[in-house]
Amino acid sequence: MLKKVLIANRGEIALRILRACKELGIKTVAAYSEADRNLMHVRLADESVCIGPAASTDSYLNIPALIAAAEITDADAIHPGYGFLAENAEFAERVEKSSFIFIGPKAESIHLMGDKVSAIDAMMKAGVPCVPGSNGPLGDDPEENLAVADKIGYPVMIKAAGGGGGRGMRVVREREDLLKFITMTRSEASSAFGNATVYLEKFLENPRHIEFQVIADHHGHAVHLGERDCSMQRRHQKVVEEAPAPGITEAMRQEIGKRCADACVNIGYRGAGTFEFLYENGHFYFIEMNTRIQVEHPVTEMITGIDLIKEQLRVASGAPLSFKQSDVQIKGHAIECRINAEDPNGFIPSAGTVTYYHPPGGPGVRVDSHLYSSYKVPPYYDSMIGKLITYGEDRATAIAKMNNALEEIVIEGIKCNVSLHQSIMTDANFQKGGLNIHYLEKKLGL
Ligand code: ADP
Repeated sequence: MLKKVLIANRGEIALRILRACKELGIKTVAAYSEADRNLMHVRLADESVCIGPAASTDSYLNIPALIAAAEITDADAIHPGYGFLAENAEFAERVEKSSFIFIGPKAESIHLMGDKVSAIDAMMKAGVPCVPGSNGPLGDDPEENLAVADKIGYPVMIKAAGGGGGRGMRVVREREDLLKFITMTRSEASSAFGNATVYLEKFLENPRHIEFQVIADHHGHAVHLGERDCSMQRRHQKVVEEAPAPGITEAMRQEIGKRCADACVNIGYRGAGTFEFLYENGHFYFIEMNTRIQVEHPVTEMITGIDLIKEQLRVASGAPLSFKQSDVQIKGHAIECRINAEDPNGFIPSAGTVTYYHPPGGPGVRVDSHLYSSYKVPPYYDSMIGKLITYGEDRATAIAKMNNALEEIVIEGIKCNVSLHQSIMTDANFQKGGLNIHYLEKKLGL
């Protein structure tokens, strides 16, 4: 087993990783920025190292500073969490070249899946169903590009191969807009991601976002842990997630899940990962793979009883997976609400001091958050300050528990989006389940 893990992240996920390490008897090092001295996990870690100023480019994205921190503390592994350097192939490579274990896949897998064009190619070869599209990057010939789009059929979506975080995508409804939109997306992609490669996909009008959790070890074993529904989105960002996805049968789950697990074996994948799909009219279409632990991993943990972070730590140490596919049993229903420090109306981030904090409780209520009374939310990072997760024997019970939890939670001093979640949980259509990715924005009048 690993002896000492450097946590190269902040906030709730840093605390989540720290808790898992402590349970396994692994020592922890908190690597924090100057703005994050007062983070909960920095207080709880065995050691802590300041890795630079507040700006993430100087701290959480500063590869030499993180490697130096691992060296001086004699850590043997680095957990990147999500965001920041979690899907940076160069970081994974430099960590391993410096003789530390990267808690995640090999740099080659991150590279392969980080480029959406090569990811789709690999998935098609592995028999995973993909969105009909250009099956490769667009070239410079306008006539050829028009012909590709004609063949797919409008509307189409132009997507940047290096895109992420809901950026680098544009819908084209009319043939006459295609070429100018390609030029625009290319130039945006080149400045935002340093990669001007774009490709085309059929634009699905009313899909749901359903993703499959996988985990693989270093010994060629890969399993899936079922799916999550993340269709409640605003600006392509997830707001509420749940597992299992309403209406997905056990047969569909096993069929798609197995293809994802087989694809992992095919590409030599190791660690936790997620295959994201759009789901429309009974069909799954792969859109991308995330080669890291995700924000919404707790809903899967609740319905399977498997601790994904502990399993990540185990497989990173070289141990085989502690369970087989047949051991994964899905039971009950779990929902997660992302609590953001933001104005629920204008969505403007709201930094500042939390003057009072009272978390909810009771059976089936889980709070993954680094908040405490008097904690100061810095303005420099993502606005997510915690996640409320509820688990019940069925979906209605999980929703009822979430309504209680949202009523009980008190966060004073900053604005947060609890009322947005209350309006979702009490929405009659949400309660029926199975809504598409546009529902939330339409409901909000956006
Ligand atoms: P990112 O890497 O930025 O998260 P994704 O490829 O995962 O990008 O897409 C993010 C979201 O964009 C999806 O959840 C969905 O809402 C929308 N989207 C992506 N591809 C399509 C498509 N072909 N048709 C319709 N919506 C899409």
